[in-house]
Amino acid sequence: MASKRQIDVGGVKIGGGAPVAVQSMTKTETADLEATMRQIRAIADAGADLVRCAVPRDKDIDALKEIVVQSPIPVIADIHFNHTLALKAIDAGAHCIRLNPGNIGGPEKVGEVVERAKAAGTPLRIGVNSGSLPRHLHELERESPVEALVSAATEFVALMERLDFENFKVSIKSTSVPNTIASNRLLSERIDYPLHLGITEAGTKWTGSLKSAVGLGTLLADDIGDTIRISLSTFHAEEEVKVAWEILKALKLRERGPVLIACPTCGRLQFDMDTVVQEIETRLEAYDEPIEVAVLGCAVNGIGEASHADFGITGAKNEGLIFAHGEPLKKVPQDDLVDALFAEIDRSLKIGRVERDEAKVAEGAAWLAKIEEENAGEMTPERMAALEAKAATEEAMATGTELPMAAPAAARERKKLDEDASPTAGRRFTRA
Ligand code: SF4
Repeated sequence: MASKRQIDVGGVKIGGGAPVAVQSMTKTETADLEATMRQIRAIADAGADLVRCAVPRDKDIDALKEIVVQSPIPVIADIHFNHTLALKAIDAGAHCIRLNPGNIGGPEKVGEVVERAKAAGTPLRIGVNSGSLPRHLHELERESPVEALVSAATEFVALMERLDFENFKVSIKSTSVPNTIASNRLLSERIDYPLHLGITEAGTKWTGSLKSAVGLGTLLADDIGDTIRISLSTFHAEEEVKVAWEILKALKLRERGPVLIACPTCGRLQFDMDTVVQEIETRLEAYDEPIEVAVLGCAVNGIGEASHADFGITGAKNEGLIFAHGEPLKKVPQDDLVDALFAEIDRSLKIGRVERDEAKVAEGAAWLAKIEEENAGEMTPERMAALEAKAATEEAMATGTELPMAAPAAARERKKLDEDASPTAGRRFTRA
């Protein structure tokens, strides 16, 4: 269930229907102001809404005072074990304090932090980690780690409410993806405060991204989670931000920059698509516009498959085709494909429309038609999928059942007309 309450972290709304906020954490020593600010700028440039800095020593507090002034995005101070540092971080102007009420020295010290946070209007993130549950929950943890995590979180929530404090978000962190999913699902049914999602110690860029996509993606698809951090074992914190955005973009929760789609390639591939896709992906990072760019490994299927893409390329042995919205634009030599694609993208973005040179369009269309004709009998993955969709659509039309997602638009329109004219119009058809 989505959170109902909303908090404000330095101007960034969290929860209560606000867009899912992306955050990352600096990996520098916070006291090293220059290095920390360099990393914060990289994180912000990559699209983070919030940044968190570890504050384990007094000298980090000195730097924090300057960081909150210089940072282009709100700063969360990450405090463990030392409530005095939490008080000092609030005084330093941190936009939010992350702490684990279980390791800060008891309810009285938590109360002190809460009073200072109330006075300053500073929100808190209260979190529990699977590795540091309170002692009285250890037995429950052995029986049901999920119930133990949720109990710890709800106990902390109850403590906050006893202290008459509601300006907080909650996180449950676990190294286990299934436990992260199950505990956040359960927690979202029990409380309506905003939730921070993350997988603890997720791993390297490869494994960590996948674990996070599965764990956080599952929750976000269910409308659970208000801010996310991808934990990756890399010094380059901006990589965490990029992964977070790919998850949000894949779920269509937020839009930022281009979307690259590419076929998986197969034995029909006739050019070095690995290199080409990588180059296109890298060059697209310089763009803010939410354009969709498609890369097809061959023109055997035509380009209809990528008709929703703003721009695309497909190649054969020595030549390739630039296309836009499913229509050929021009044929170019294989080696010029990427440069020609970006020239088209740049020109179109500049003038606000795709420019067509009719002679080049005709030449590209003839090249494409020739390849399609030469390979008319080829059973490609796309053609098999189209045949399966056609068969499923015909069956659905014959039996009056729900059309498959891949059904052509014409079939959907036809079915709608049939339904509107039917005596049972307005009712959903079911199998007899
Ligand atoms: S047939 Fe499909 S998967 Fe194979 S190279 Fe062509 S577009 Fe890519």
